[in-house]
Amino acid sequence: MKAIVFKKEMLLSLEDRPYPDLVNPDDVVVRVHSTGICGTDRNILLGRFPARQGVVLGHESVGYVTAIGSQVPDFKVGDRVVVNPTLYCGHCHFCRRGAFNFCDNKTGAEIGVDRDGTFADYVRMPARFLHHLPPSMALDRAVFIEPLACVMNNANAVDLQPADDVVILGGGPIGMVFALYAQRFARKVIVVENDPFRRSFAAKLDLLTADSGHPDWQQHVVDLNDARRPSVVIETSGVLLDAAVDLVAKGGRIAVMGFNGHITAGFKVLRIVNNGIRVVGAGDYNGPIFPAAIDLAAELPLEKLITHRFTLAEHDQAFNLLTGNHDAAHPDQYGAMKILICSE
Ligand SMILES: [Zn+2]
Ligand SMILES: [Zn+2]
Repeated sequence: MKAIVFKKEMLLSLEDRPYPDLVNPDDVVVRVHSTGICGTDRNILLGRFPARQGVVLGHESVGYVTAIGSQVPDFKVGDRVVVNPTLYCGHCHFCRRGAFNFCDNKTGAEIGVDRDGTFADYVRMPARFLHHLPPSMALDRAVFIEPLACVMNNANAVDLQPADDVVILGGGPIGMVFALYAQRFARKVIVVENDPFRRSFAAKLDLLTADSGHPDWQQHVVDLNDARRPSVVIETSGVLLDAAVDLVAKGGRIAVMGFNGHITAGFKVLRIVNNGIRVVGAGDYNGPIFPAAIDLAAELPLEKLITHRFTLAEHDQAFNLLTGNHDAAHPDQYGAMKILICSE
């Protein structure tokens, strides 16, 4: 089969890999239909997030069951499934306390990071990390279930409430999934983004936007928010945490998303202490969020975020759209939102 392999920083290659035969009795082999490119994939390629060299990337994925082990009672060949890519052991200190997201034995267990992922024709994984899809849900929507689970995890971490006004820093794919979620659950949503394509994309989905490239963008956000500071700020850009601390209202909450190992932040500690600001990192979502994300995906028009589809062999074109190599005249501008790698 074909697979997109992470060779080293700034180098992916399309390789022939053996079909993943069943190994354990609880294994399932999935024929991958499509996989979303995540900011994490981009950060791995750019050398900002650690991944095992030689691993098959890809983790936001849907497909069809093609083979099942001897101890898999709840799947049959042909079932449509979504991959929960964050495997856990179930028996370490944290797993025994239900904090599966902080499993001590994740090394070698994160699909598309250090265990072979879904930018491939097939993937093998334990049945308990696959979920059935509702019959009525299109695969184009289901492919957003994993990022939606991440969003719900962070929304829980900041205790998002209907009275909240939510400012999302960074209008990329994860920021936009958060925006569609918050549009449903909070009174106001403002997306802050310096890229004009992404701002107009957000505006077409009836979202308020502000330009973080403008020196007065924080004031614009306050103006858009009925002259108040936002109660919740979601930082997905990776580089605006200090601005988030400046911007958020007294008693406000900030969630830090965006996986970038090169970033450190400096901010005014007194603002946090004096104003009762909470800054939270939510980590990976915990297991029970995943089924809830499947249910909620049925209600959100997530497939509207798809702008491009490429085959496995077209991975260079796909990633170039996200790494600024697509338009020599405007190297800092994106021309894409969610990009799918289609295995079939
Ligand atoms: Zn992801
Ligand atoms: Zn564990």
